[in-house]
Amino acid sequence: VSFDTAGLRKYVLDNITKSGYKKPTPIQKHAIPIIMNGRDLMGCAQTGSGKTATFLLPIINILLQEPKELIVTNTCAQPQVIIISPTRELTLQIFNEARKFAYGSILKIAVAYGGTAVRYQGDNISKGCHILVATPGRLIDFVNRRRVSFESTRFVVLDEADRMLDLGFMPDVEKVMEHSTMVQSGERQTLMFSATFPEDIQQLAGRFLKDYLFVAV
Ligand code: AMP
Repeated sequence: VSFDTAGLRKYVLDNITKSGYKKPTPIQKHAIPIIMNGRDLMGCAQTGSGKTATFLLPIINILLQEPKELIVTNTCAQPQVIIISPTRELTLQIFNEARKFAYGSILKIAVAYGGTAVRYQGDNISKGCHILVATPGRLIDFVNRRRVSFESTRFVVLDEADRMLDLGFMPDVEKVMEHSTMVQSGERQTLMFSATFPEDIQQLAGRFLKDYLFVAV
């Protein structure tokens, strides 16, 4: 199996090669085609399984394949992709991977996490971004400040859902998910990842994913 068979554009394949990835990991092999087909996904995979590239590669591919205008109204940005991750470290890791895979393209990627000044992150987001990678608390903060809205959101990714639960972030996550479901206008694809799949995560998946496929590796 190679990345070539997944239907990814040459541009994305070239960036995969540049990253030194020779063949897809099991989660990539099974989940990338599902995401490319527009389906919601619940992926059970550990950190280290290659799950970040699993969601980033098809999303970047689709953003480039079917580009939509980047919208900012009154310094409120409308990201097309919202990726929610529990910690600053993970958020930065995803942000850096996204920048690597989108390198040289028109895609704008922004990041937001707590513990640093809102100002700089906010100024960056307000320039407009296709992809926003954020921790749940800081994301809500930006939504409340009307710097981010979900109106143009085409993808929502919830990474490490079980860690969100452990860290007590679930109320924030639910607020974000509920808000985004209410506000977004067009087609929307939702992807969730978790190392484990206990009752609470099953419920979350049931509430926010629609007609989803389940992949466990
Ligand atoms: P993740 O599970 O997303 O945290 O990824 C773990 C590590 O594996 C990261 O350093 C990735 O850059 C790397 N990685 C992801 N996919 C592949 C692949 N197909 N081949 C080689 N390395 C990979």
